[in-house]
Amino acid sequence: MKKLEDYVTSIPNFPEEGIVFRDVTTILEDPDGLCLAVDGVRKMLEGVEYDSVIGPESRGFIFGVPVAYAERKGFIPVRKKGKLPREVLSMDYELEYGTATIELHKESIKPGQKIVIIDDLIATGGTIEAIIKLVEQLGGEVVKICFIMELAGLQGREKLKGYDVESLIIYE
Ligand code: IMP
Repeated sequence: MKKLEDYVTSIPNFPEEGIVFRDVTTILEDPDGLCLAVDGVRKMLEGVEYDSVIGPESRGFIFGVPVAYAERKGFIPVRKKGKLPREVLSMDYELEYGTATIELHKESIKPGQKIVIIDDLIATGGTIEAIIKLVEQLGGEVVKICFIMELAGLQGREKLKGYDVESLIIYE
C-alpha cells in the first residue's frame, strides 16, 4: 500500500535554482492519492468544532472543498486581488518568491464564526498568516490549520505560533 508521500513528485531547481518544488498534481491525478489526502485532512478534523472551511486560491480550493463537502460545511474562498465581486478585506503579504495580495468577502465571516484553514503546502507561512489576519479582523476564530505538506526548513510554523497546526507530510 502506497503512502501519501509516494504520490508527491519532487522537482529539483524549480521555479529557481536550489529550490525543490513539491508537486501535488500527482496526488490529485491518482484516485488513491486523492483519497489519502482528503481523508487524511478529515481525520485531523475529528473532534474539532467548527463552522466553515476557508482556503486560498488555488490549491487551497482543491483540498478544502472536498473536505468541506464531506463534512457538510461551507467553503469560503480567499482569492487573489481583484477577483471577488462584493466588498472585500485585503491583505498584502510576502511569498517565498515575491509579494502578493489576497482578498476575502467581508460578509463571508461573522463574529464568533469558527474557521478551519486548509491549504496544500506551508512554506514561509506568509499566506496563512495573512488569512488569519483577514479572518480575525472580521471577528472570526481560527480553530485549526491543516496542510497536505510542510516545508519545515522554512520555519513557517514560527508565524503560526499559538494556533493548532497539522500537516500530513513534513519535509525537513
Ligand atoms: P508560504 O506563504 O510561503 O507558506 O507559501 C505557501 C504557498 O506557496 C502555498 O499555497 C503553495 O501553493 C506555494 N508553494 C511554495 N512552495 C511550494 C512547493 O514546493 N510546492 C508547491 N507549492 C508551493
